[in-house]
Amino acid sequence: MKSVHGIHHVTAIASDPQRNLAFYAGFLGLRFVKRTVNFDDPQTYHFYFGDEVGAPGSILTFFPWPGARRGRQGTGQVAVTSLAVLPGAISFWIERLVRYGMKFVGPNTRRHGGSDAEHVIEFKDDDGLLLEIVGHEGAEARSAWRGAPGISAEHAIRGLHAVTIWADAGASTERVLVDTLGFRPLREQDGIRRFASGDGGPGTLVDVRSIGGFPAGVSGAGTVHHVAWRVPDDDVQLEVRSQVAAAMLQPTPVIDRDYFHSVYFREPGGVLFELATDSPGFAIDEPVERLGERLMLPSQYERMRTRIEATLPPIHLPAPVSAPNQAMTIDD
Ligand code: ZN
Repeated sequence: MKSVHGIHHVTAIASDPQRNLAFYAGFLGLRFVKRTVNFDDPQTYHFYFGDEVGAPGSILTFFPWPGARRGRQGTGQVAVTSLAVLPGAISFWIERLVRYGMKFVGPNTRRHGGSDAEHVIEFKDDDGLLLEIVGHEGAEARSAWRGAPGISAEHAIRGLHAVTIWADAGASTERVLVDTLGFRPLREQDGIRRFASGDGGPGTLVDVRSIGGFPAGVSGAGTVHHVAWRVPDDDVQLEVRSQVAAAMLQPTPVIDRDYFHSVYFREPGGVLFELATDSPGFAIDEPVERLGERLMLPSQYERMRTRIEATLPPIHLPAPVSAPNQAMTIDD
């Protein structure tokens, strides 16, 4: 059996494109690695944020739909997206949250058995997406974007840490993680079961929280659309795809997303999963030093560029921020 290699990216729904850009590139200091359109709906943006090159495991992507109705976290969703930092960076992030007037909970220490301590701050983006910054020793091995104004490399976010799936009854979801995707169960604490793939460090972790009786999630702004798991190449992708098909989960054919190749399927608990290849990556259509500066279109839409550019709302990369910014306030 072939296993996936942890999280490739998380894709969520946002409302205002400029606010989304200000939060993820400005406040969190992720690199804006690709401005493109939703390949299935080219009149709307698709934003990608990550480390310097948008390496698999560092990527958060958004469909910013102006005026999108707010969704609601609930079962059948990836409800929480956790970002990794070095343990020593937690106080920097608390200070930054305070300075931007943002609500947060923490820091709390979670011990997943033994010495494997995590220092966690919980907060939300402007649309209500549940986020965590997690200080963990393993973040040392992950890359960071060093170009964010006001955020040094020692404080910078180092990719995704984990995702938390809220499940009505986690058993069927857990079976897919283990039997079909090759995750291994690590431990259970406070009703949350943790699974890992690959080296088991930040970026390879999935928590399944069974909250039976809790209302099902509603898709909309502030909710995760899908989580993508890493597959190293096209061959492994096809092998994992056939494992998914054998589990009667009806995977899509391989779809070319230009920056990676994708297969989608819905796990029995209701969460949309994707298998995404590590290559070719975001430097396929613009140089690494210019990532995110121009609107990049897949070839099938290039002839419509003028019309698409006229439809999309104008955006600008956030300027270096040193003072509190009203647009950053989270209202809930
Ligand atoms: Zn995706």
